[in-house]
Amino acid sequence: AAMRKSRIKRTKTVCTYCGVGCSFEIWTKDRHILKVEPQEHAPANGISTCVKGKWGWDFVNSEERLTKPLIRHGDEFTEATWEEALQLIASKLTEIKEEHGSDSIGYIASSKCSNEENFLFQKLARAVMGTNNVDNCSRYCQSPATAGLLRTVGMGGDSGTIRDIEASDLVITIGANPAESHPVLATRVKRAHKLHGQKLIVVDLRENELAERADLFVHPKPSTDLIWISAVTKYIFDQGWEDKEFLNTRVNGLDQFKKSLEKFTLEYAVETTGVSRDEIIKMATMIHEVNSVCILWAMGITQHSGATDASTAISNLLLVTGNYGRPGTGAYPLRGHNNVQGACDFGTMPAWLPGYEPIQDDQARARYEAAWGVTLPSEPGMNNHQMVEGIDKGKLKALYLFGEDMAVVDSNINFVDSSFEKLDFFVVQDVFFSKTAQFADVVLPAAPSLEKDGTFVNTERRIQRFYQVFEPMGESKPDWQIFQEVANALGEDWHYEHPSEIMAEAASLAPLFAGVSYERLEGFNSQVWPVTKDGTDSPLLYTEKFAFPDGKARLIPVDWTKPFITGEEYDLHLNNGRLLEHFHEGNLTYRSEGLTHKVPDPWLEISLEEAKKRGIEDGALVRLTSPYGQVKVRAIVTDRVTGNELYLTMNTREDDEMVNRLTSSHHDYITHTPSYKEMSVKMEILEDK
Ligand code: SF4
Repeated sequence: AAMRKSRIKRTKTVCTYCGVGCSFEIWTKDRHILKVEPQEHAPANGISTCVKGKWGWDFVNSEERLTKPLIRHGDEFTEATWEEALQLIASKLTEIKEEHGSDSIGYIASSKCSNEENFLFQKLARAVMGTNNVDNCSRYCQSPATAGLLRTVGMGGDSGTIRDIEASDLVITIGANPAESHPVLATRVKRAHKLHGQKLIVVDLRENELAERADLFVHPKPSTDLIWISAVTKYIFDQGWEDKEFLNTRVNGLDQFKKSLEKFTLEYAVETTGVSRDEIIKMATMIHEVNSVCILWAMGITQHSGATDASTAISNLLLVTGNYGRPGTGAYPLRGHNNVQGACDFGTMPAWLPGYEPIQDDQARARYEAAWGVTLPSEPGMNNHQMVEGIDKGKLKALYLFGEDMAVVDSNINFVDSSFEKLDFFVVQDVFFSKTAQFADVVLPAAPSLEKDGTFVNTERRIQRFYQVFEPMGESKPDWQIFQEVANALGEDWHYEHPSEIMAEAASLAPLFAGVSYERLEGFNSQVWPVTKDGTDSPLLYTEKFAFPDGKARLIPVDWTKPFITGEEYDLHLNNGRLLEHFHEGNLTYRSEGLTHKVPDPWLEISLEEAKKRGIEDGALVRLTSPYGQVKVRAIVTDRVTGNELYLTMNTREDDEMVNRLTSSHHDYITHTPSYKEMSVKMEILEDK
């Protein structure tokens, strides 16, 4: 028995699903996962995990794993050696670069992979291949929040930690469903609400789980948030409830901003948003009556045509009421993926170097150029959206993508599919043969987090290490090793032996991470950026200064952008989102037996009124049609949604269930984040239950 026990290994890891960043010990024996054991000293979660972190790991041993490189021959893929695959990639990329220029190739990074991997990938794109055409899936989610925060407070991340959310007097969630999308964070809110008298306002189209517990649940008309937020802000000024001292000493742009609010009267807000006068006054009053307010938001704000402006309006409201820089206050755009924060932080963005130095900043670029011995391109590259359009127009000839199933998660995927068909050369690197891989010329087998070392950054800006548990399956390799081999096949001489060396390089180049090191991150230790050279980290931002040269925040006037409307025949509004048991499209969670057993299929929520009107019963199969495509899905009749508003979960295994067959290419006019939430459809019943 003693011998058997000694073969049990306990390894610290960080969850690979959502942005809460739960860490725990994973118990394994050979390749078997015995259990996941949370630890009291885990910084983000303590002893909590959710169903995905606890049970969602068997994808690692799935028989569907890619274990060898694949090369396309006509319509077929055949197994190849690494040597063959790397040679083909190097020769094709070189040929395309020589013929069409560096900017004819795009690079799409992964929010599932480590900081070190994202850092190396942007180095490959910028330093080796000479282009800033590099982006990640934050373009599909929180880019507008980042942009809204950058222009008001100077940094794009959450302004405090989960502990601040828990300590806050009033938590407001807007267009977010933390109970399912950020479950462990939501348990903090539930606990504070139940035990410590925290107040809770939930604003959403759908009466989600947190809404059921809220002190106030507000349901505005779709895509009108900027208006009621601005009306609440105006009402606060009208009552003289603004934080005058904070505004006088710490904020610029007050007069112009106040003037911009004039149009956001109660009457205008009530008429356009459907939020009642009482609700607007109640929200303003609740904010006024407490000491500390946190606002949490997600895709219900950011996936709209005017999403950056709506995020800006949230930040403006926090500034007006002095809710930055103190414990329990701040802005919390909740990050979706485990490392979407880190993918941005470590530079896989077309306009930013690692640590959010603009690519156009000559001094910053010079630092990298000196270290890498190259000249870097100085103009921002294409983002995801521009890349797909660029392929369609023949400007972009090749794409290198890793750990991202773009043919499922981008909007208007019928268009994305047709674009991918036009590529001259396409490299896809993933753990599984994804839908996107079907369009590839070369598919490279990658290793998931349990098969490598690295670090992730969670939604709090907290950097945490994860440790290798298993050997990579078959011939799969950690993504950072693959990038190194691709770079070397292209004539470079990279010789990183461990991700810690990559982190050391990033820390030496990006001031934001100056004091980050693997030693300081040992075990369950973590560091919240910015981290100064001596290792001091920054859980709470803006305690004394905002991140602008004069240290002052900026109130930015914003106006409402009308949502994209498809036409009268599309008479239903379709919302969409995650659910507890699956992560996004389900690429990983559908390879977990327990989770799939619990929730095998997506579903469509229909209101009682609409169901009655159309004679739809629970379980009926319906077809939804938009101008861009169709899906077939089973319906659930529920009072979570009301009127003509539908809700479709985004987990999917079938081609004709994918919500993005319906979405359009319309997007936030500033960041190009798709307006996934501005969608009208029509519905027909295909078969009764
Ligand atoms: Fe993983 Fe998020 Fe669940 Fe924590 S809350 S266990 S990070 S999916």
